[in-house]
Amino acid sequence: MPHGISMTQIDSLPPLRDVITSHDLKARKALGQNFLLDLNLTSRIARIPGDLSQTDVIEVGPGPGGLTRGLLAEGARHVLAIEKDSRCLPALQQIADIYPDRFTFVEGDALKIDPLEHLTPPIAICANLPYNVGTELLVRWLTPKEWPPFWSSLTLMFQKEVAERIIAQPGSKAYGRLAILAQWRADPRIALTLPPEAFSPPPKVHSAVVHLTALPEPRFPAKAKVLERVVAAAFNQRRKMLRSALKTLSPDIEDRLLAAGIKPTERAEQVPLEAFCALARQFEDDV
Ligand code: SAM
Repeated sequence: MPHGISMTQIDSLPPLRDVITSHDLKARKALGQNFLLDLNLTSRIARIPGDLSQTDVIEVGPGPGGLTRGLLAEGARHVLAIEKDSRCLPALQQIADIYPDRFTFVEGDALKIDPLEHLTPPIAICANLPYNVGTELLVRWLTPKEWPPFWSSLTLMFQKEVAERIIAQPGSKAYGRLAILAQWRADPRIALTLPPEAFSPPPKVHSAVVHLTALPEPRFPAKAKVLERVVAAAFNQRRKMLRSALKTLSPDIEDRLLAAGIKPTERAEQVPLEAFCALARQFEDDV
């Protein structure tokens, strides 16, 4: 192997550390920047959604492009990246020069722009984002006006504790609104956990990549808005029995709980998703 070429190099682009130095991309805390520099690792993450050769990928927050390069090297049909930090654009242009037909990028805030018109389904979303932006986007992607959504899978990096909330089961402290939202219309799993040292600079916490596939239809019937209201009310007062946590929803809440097969003395933490959906069906439009 020629001197200076790293074992982990997956394309003819310079190593990521050199990209960062040459474009002066010192990570900024305000932008939640913790970069992945190991191209073996970014390829591993890019393989989590499975074969992407017939899929367009939206990558949010590519930064210097480690995960982008993984996605392209692993064969994604097309990658469209959205990056807020203009300092990263020259590094992304270098990638576009190598993959002119398969890679495009736009400068912008993923919370504000909608890149869909350039893409052809099926669409996968893949991102290592600042944790707060990631959670906000996840909730948005899980609550579109119509189901199935425009995406077929989401592969997203989270703080490990948030990843555990997404996959949590009843009876655990982590179980709450995020678990119900994610599990009602998608299949989430933790695909990989990562220690702080996997990033540069290292964050304070452990991280995990969550992979979610969209179900063709919700796991159990319910109206989305009603389910959201019932679940929000139940978990806002998670230590209370449901008959009191939910009494603002209806004066006959005990009857409705019983009709849904839920003991009025139970707490939200113990109620499975299926029972929350049955409760939401008791309300139909009148919550
Ligand atoms: N994906 C790269 C990696 O794995 O090395 C960078 C990860 S870094 C945690 C997050 C990236 O998201 C940064 O490049 C940051 O500038 C970008 N970013 C932060 N907020 C954003 C937003 N609202 N829209 C688009 N990009 C954003």
